[in-house]
Amino acid sequence: MPSNKDRRPANNPATRIGYGFDSHEFRSGIPLKIGGISLAHDKGLGGHSDGDVLLHAVTDALLGAVAAPDIGALFPPSDSRWKGADSAVFLREALKRVREAGYGVANMDASLILSAPKIGPHSAAIRERIAQLLGVGVDCVGLKAKTPEGLNLENAAIAHVVVLLEKRSSPKKPRKKNE
Ligand code: MG
Repeated sequence: MPSNKDRRPANNPATRIGYGFDSHEFRSGIPLKIGGISLAHDKGLGGHSDGDVLLHAVTDALLGAVAAPDIGALFPPSDSRWKGADSAVFLREALKRVREAGYGVANMDASLILSAPKIGPHSAAIRERIAQLLGVGVDCVGLKAKTPEGLNLENAAIAHVVVLLEKRSSPKKPRKKNE
């Protein structure tokens, strides 16, 4: 049993983990963007923004790690500002909140589930773009792509993401509830 003096305050642990999930439906005639990269395909992912399922899951993982409001609360689909928005905007805001809380990203890992297009040829570009957005080395961004075997989800793209944060500095003044 650790003594009380070994315990860090609950709001200031040395590391924090975050988990994000998202899914979007494929629709014909719209561009496909995954992980900040445009992919040639006959369908894109529907959604109010650019539909980037992977960047949305990364954003929610970052927000969750610092117990901030989630992507839907911060960027509601009802707000016309986010119509067609580049999802990098959401990720950057989440990262700002991570830094304000006194943390930086140690690494992240993602599983992407979709039947097409094949992600393998684009994996390096996606990892590089996400590493650039997160300010980490590309060796700190994991990406696995799976096909939805037995899930009957041929028309969906699904992303699961975990991030590990490490304490870098003292937190700035906390935001008000739901700010
Ligand atoms: Mg989404």
